[in-house]
Amino acid sequence: MIPTHLGFEEVMAPMSWQEARDEALRCYYCYDAPCMSHCPTGINVPEFIRHIAEGHLQGAARVIFDDNILGSTCARICPTEVLCEGACVRTKDSRAVSIGRLQRVATDYAMNQGFPVLPAKSVKVHANVGIVGSGPAALAAAAELRRYGCEVMIYEAREQAGGLDTYGIVEFREPLAVSQWEVQQVQALGVQFHYGINVGRDVSWEEVKSRHDVLIIAVGLGPVPALGIPGEELRGVYNALELIALTKMGDYEAIDLGSRVVVIGAGNTAVDAATCAKRLGATEVTILYRRGEEAMPAYAYEYEFAKHEGVNYKWWTVVTAILGDNRVKGVHCKQSALAPSDVPGRSLRHQPLVIKENSDFEMPCDSVIIATGQSRFSSPWLALGIQQENHVPTVNPLTFETSVSRVYAIGDCLAPQEATVVSAVQQGKQAAQDIVKRYAKEGNV
Ligand SMILES: Cc1cc2nc3c(=O)[nH]c(=O)nc-3n(C[C@H](O)[C@H](O)[C@H](O)COP(=O)(O)OP(=O)(O)OC[C@H]3O[C@@H](n4cnc5c(N)ncnc54)[C@H](O)[C@@H]3O)c2cc1C
Ligand code: SF4
Repeated sequence: MIPTHLGFEEVMAPMSWQEARDEALRCYYCYDAPCMSHCPTGINVPEFIRHIAEGHLQGAARVIFDDNILGSTCARICPTEVLCEGACVRTKDSRAVSIGRLQRVATDYAMNQGFPVLPAKSVKVHANVGIVGSGPAALAAAAELRRYGCEVMIYEAREQAGGLDTYGIVEFREPLAVSQWEVQQVQALGVQFHYGINVGRDVSWEEVKSRHDVLIIAVGLGPVPALGIPGEELRGVYNALELIALTKMGDYEAIDLGSRVVVIGAGNTAVDAATCAKRLGATEVTILYRRGEEAMPAYAYEYEFAKHEGVNYKWWTVVTAILGDNRVKGVHCKQSALAPSDVPGRSLRHQPLVIKENSDFEMPCDSVIIATGQSRFSSPWLALGIQQENHVPTVNPLTFETSVSRVYAIGDCLAPQEATVVSAVQQGKQAAQDIVKRYAKEGNV
């Protein structure tokens, strides 16, 4: 059972040293370990776990950070059940080794000890790279490029770096200090950061591109789109990402949820917003989803966590209006169902829906949180003439170069089905390695 307590302190307690050692000794240190190939960043899991078993936490942390500069974040928020731990051979004889929690033991040690920055690579290449955005994808690319000696400049629209790690992952799953520490590690490698610059608004995309040999676009996804229903302007309507960002920045006074909260959507963001609402003191939090439980986008462990926190779910429910005069008083809903014509090959999540006739009902509530996914940016691709489809740039799947030479796109802006920090990190590394290879070949070594 996942531990819980109200408040914003980290939910998952760290392992004690004895627990970590016992757990590390459960590892079979497989040759050709499947956990390694199921980690998108290819961390040498058996090697770091062996270091822990032998009491060398600094060595363990070095192994992790060498492949994944955001190892502290990933230790906390990776969906390990479907990645490294899902592939652990020990699931066959008892249970998977707790790889994520062991990773946290090593990376927390590094954080607490003021671990030195990663060593530079022996090969040095000379390229000047501009990166737009400073989320996980950008930080990973920047760190890798810097280790090869490239000049790296990051342009970030917000006041702090880290992207969703800083502003979007709820505090009780990843404290802000963790993300800030990781940014400091990248800064210490010599990456330059420019804050408060929204490329496309404060400076043109062409201008930024012209300043650098190579441009990497790592802008993530856009804001939560409006639902387009009456009442969205009422006081008490929040967009999930803004609400989470307020809690991350400790700006609790700006939030007034009341006691009954409705959350629209059933993905990871909805779970995070709903559990945040609980921790902010709401007594009744209900997730409304227009499809059934089996089509819900959140992971199974997130669903369990939400239920354990006391969040209610109401399936097959479409909100058609938010009710109230000045402040939210309730929501008007209709029931939905799968359309009778089954579309072969389409997942339940994408099957067409119909609204049931005469199924209207109202639910009283004090606030509504919209968590229906993020929009996609189109301006970078349009401004630079990058080939795209539905606002998603076309990239070489191995290098992440776009159709415009020396312009790369990485991370959530590629609109992946299952967006994860660890995949964004790997894309950043792959783009950086392609740039390094290219400049080494061209003699800029
Ligand atoms: C609520 C929520 C919960 C999540 N939970 C998990 C989880 O548990 N596990 C997990 O692995 N993943 C999780 N994710 C997904 C994960 O956060 C993303 O996959 C990851 O952050 C993507 O990294 P990125 O670098 O592509 O983009 P982002 O983190 O979105 O960073 C993009 C950055 O670009 C900046 N930017 C955008 N446009 C411009 C511009 N024009 N000029 C300058 N800067 C710009 C933004 O300000 C931002 O800092 C979650 C996401 C959300 C929303
Ligand atoms: S980075 Fe994530 S997927 Fe990779 S080993 Fe660590 S916890 Fe597992």
